[in-house]
Formats: sequence, structure tokens, C-alpha cells
Amino acid sequence: MNKLFVISGPSGVGKGTLVKRILAADRDVALSVSCTTRRPRVGEQHGREYFFITREEFESHIRAGDFIEYNEHFGNLYGTPRTFVEEQLARHSVILEIEVNGGLRCRDLMPEKTVLIFIAPPSPEELEERLAHRETETAEQRAERLGRVRYENEQKKKYDYVVVNDDLNRAAEELCSIIRKETNRN
Ligand code: ADP
Ligand code: 5GP
Repeated sequence: MNKLFVISGPSGVGKGTLVKRILAADRDVALSVSCTTRRPRVGEQHGREYFFITREEFESHIRAGDFIEYNEHFGNLYGTPRTFVEEQLARHSVILEIEVNGGLRCRDLMPEKTVLIFIAPPSPEELEERLAHRETETAEQRAERLGRVRYENEQKKKYDYVVVNDDLNRAAEELCSIIRKETNRN
């Protein structure tokens, strides 16, 4: 059965890097591109990482019911587009890279299709180092993101799988095998 794979985990843990690996290894999954009101980071492209829209546009999409779920996170709105996900699910499995509240909301809405996968760091120190190394946030933004780690760790208990992103190749292989196993199951 085609499934909705939700990939969550703290900022900087390596979700984006792992999702790229999955897409390269498995041609039969589609990545959902969310809408957000946050500003693009250097190198991000409209329609590739996100659809970057204004708060007014986002609010009008909320009123129209265009999102499966949406959430305000670090002062910005993020939402999963309904039409894209529904169309893709008819053909493939779909990956959502979204935070924990959105993931749990998807499971409430589509319990039989949703598989929740949490990506955990090998240690809190390593997480801090990866986030700093990425050099896309200010020190204040990094502190805000690290401050949410405890909440996310609590929510991970509700997830179906926890994958530790220690060695990138190993973690990517574990994720691909979860996806294969769940897709082959009804
Ligand atoms: P996220 O999408 O979870 O915020 P990213 O994919 O942007 O995280 O990764 C954050 C940083 O950590 C990047 O610089 C990335 O290259 C690095 N990284 C990802 N996975 C690993 C890993 N297994 N070992 C070491 N560094 C990693
Ligand atoms: P970032 O600003 O680092 O790209 O993303 C911040 C957080 O928002 C990440 O945890 C990311 O997974 C999450 N996120 C991205 N898109 C969505 C979405 O459509 N819905 C929800 N609920 N969270 C999202």
C-alpha cells in the first residue's frame, strides 16, 4: 500500500540530507514540498525546498482548506499541500519532512497510511555541532531550535520508528529498508 512517511527530528539532525539519499535510492517515492512564510536560505529555491509565500497568501490557503496540516514554528507558518499529497498518494508513497505536531496530526487524519519516523542524533553535542556547521542560522536562532529538542524528544515516543543518524550511509540504509518493508505491507 502507498504510505505517507513522515520524517521528523530536531533541526540540524540530518533530515534533509537523509531524505535526499532516500529519493536517490528509491524512484517510487515522491517528496511533498511544503509552503512556508519563512525567508529562503542561501541556495534554497522556490518550489524545490519550499513554496515561499507571504503570511497573507498562507492565511488564504488555510481558509480555502488547501493544507492537510499546518503549524506555526519558530515564528513562521509551515503547511503541507493537500492536492499534491492526495494526487501522489494515488500513485506512490509520499515523504513529508515536517515537525512532530504536524506528523501526529497526519496520523490522526490517515491512521492506516501514516508511518512516523523520528531521526535522532547520536548525542546532544553532535546535534549542536551539526547545526552550527550548517551555518544557516544566527546564534539566537540556533538556541531557539535547540530549545525545542526536549519537546521533540518527548513526542518521539509516539513515533513508529526512531532512526539514529550516526553514520550517514548506515542511517540511510535503515530508512530505505523501513520504507520498503512498510510499502510492501498493507
Ligand atoms: P535538518 O534537515 O535535519 O535540519 P541537515 O540535513 O541540514 O539537517 O543536516 C545538518 C548538517 O549535518 C549538515 O551540514 C549535514 O551535512 C550534516 N550531517 C547530516 N547527517 C550527518 C551525519 N550522519 N554525520 C555527520 N554530519 C551529518
Ligand atoms: P526549516 O525552517 O528548518 O526548513 O524547518 C523548520 C521545521 O518545520 C522543521 O522541523 C521542518 O520539518 C518543519 N516543517 C517543514 N514543513 C512543514 C509542514 O508543512 N508542516 C509542519 N507541521 N512542519 C513543517
